[in-house]
Amino acid sequence: MTAATLTIDLGALTANWRALDALSARDVETAAVVKADGYGLGAGRVSAALAGIGVKTFFVALADEGIAVRAAVGDLAEIFVFSGHMEGDARVLEQHRLTPLLNSPEQSARHFDQLANHPFGVQLDTGMSRLGMEVQAFLTLREGLMARAPSLMMSHLACADEPDHPQNTAQLRTFHELTDGLGIRRSLAATGGILLGEDYHFDLCRPGIGLYGGLPFGDARAVVGLDVPVIQTRRLKVGETVGYGAAWTAKRPSKIATLAAGYADGLIRKMGARAQIWAGDIPVPLIGRVSMDLLTVDVTDLAEVPSHLSLLGAHQSVDDLANAADTIGYEILTSLGARYKRVYTGG
Ligand SMILES: *Cc1c(COP(=O)(O)O)cnc(C)c1O
Repeated sequence: MTAATLTIDLGALTANWRALDALSARDVETAAVVKADGYGLGAGRVSAALAGIGVKTFFVALADEGIAVRAAVGDLAEIFVFSGHMEGDARVLEQHRLTPLLNSPEQSARHFDQLANHPFGVQLDTGMSRLGMEVQAFLTLREGLMARAPSLMMSHLACADEPDHPQNTAQLRTFHELTDGLGIRRSLAATGGILLGEDYHFDLCRPGIGLYGGLPFGDARAVVGLDVPVIQTRRLKVGETVGYGAAWTAKRPSKIATLAAGYADGLIRKMGARAQIWAGDIPVPLIGRVSMDLLTVDVTDLAEVPSHLSLLGAHQSVDDLANAADTIGYEILTSLGARYKRVYTGG
């Protein structure tokens, strides 16, 4: 069985970085978040393409993710680790020259104990209550941390995709209160924060999802295409059913195509009948249940059934598919399966 083809347009990726970079002032650096294997698209390829157009700063979630990024971007780039300095990370941080963002007094103690002269940043919790040093803990440690010259002070916005949410200005105010006058490089904005405007940009912006073509960056170019091969077609009489649970019944004489991808490839079962798939410019409905390795499509109205149908691409974005599955583009991207044949273009 031939696998579906996932096409990753590195030209669109770098165009998205440039477009996001252009939204902040010239003296604001734009970094790139390449955690979770570059949002599922391949951290090595994605990082190398971005380094190739001059991106100098990268972010990953876990220290181990930094290994592939370091190999791809060379020695000069700076790679930050959001989860900070966790137990057992010292060797990887040192060997691959990764910069942990210290998240707690425990992490600070561990870092200065185990890697005293190794660079670090500080992540502050300004109201998201997820990751980062809490305000009181930071105020207690601030002097000692500043004496060791962190390379970045950062925090993360909980509601940046909702421009009018009052938590944005509240977090902005807290970030100022904690970091004004310290003279350390600062970062608050991810993709959503870039779109909130210059008050949120500080010294460095760190977009993730917008690079990969997802909302809230509505002007993004599509980066991902997914073409799924047709395995076989069959004709159904009125009353015959398709797939598990016999969930779809032919109401007219129908032609059904079976396609080679399913929920094991990240095509979330819940998208079921609400998603469409495209035969060139013509939308055709998915029918019945998504199975582990297969999709079924009603192609009755097509004059000719092509060898492949397109699930992601010019006609259907990652966010369109996310809507059909009641989720967000981030989850669609990071669920994209390991079985796909991956083709990189525009690199
Ligand atoms: C994932 C993440 C980002 C990137 O966010 P996007 O919404 O994908 O742009 C930035 N900062 C932190 C702390 C993150 O966890």
